[in-house]
Amino acid sequence: MGKPIKIGIVVVCLAAAVFLLARHFGKSAPAPEEGWQATIWHCPDCNTTFELTAAEYKSRVGTLSYVPCVSCEGVDAEEVYKCPNCNGYYPPLGHGLRGTHCPLCKEELPNLGASRLGGG
Ligand SMILES: [Zn+2]
Ligand SMILES: [Zn+2]
Repeated sequence: MGKPIKIGIVVVCLAAAVFLLARHFGKSAPAPEEGWQATIWHCPDCNTTFELTAAEYKSRVGTLSYVPCVSCEGVDAEEVYKCPNCNGYYPPLGHGLRGTHCPLCKEELPNLGASRLGGG
């Protein structure tokens, strides 16, 4: 008699876990190591801009503390964001902050979760 109840509890727990995970990923800024989104990097040494998915980022960075440039293997690559309005690249406002408006064309940016400036 207890079996269906147990299965019911498991299902509820799974649903709760999925819900919490979805909420977690929806609210937090997508850090490269846990986010699924591609990150964009700019190397000032050779002026190359390149994209890395989370998987590519992991395999490329490995145990390093920097992102090696795909072109010149330079150590100075910095994360940048791409504006969907003007297709320009701009540096984050702070650690992982995309901002709400593009600093290049001043257009409002779509809310991708990372546009929150904290607090809320
Ligand atoms: Zn480079
Ligand atoms: Zn723009």
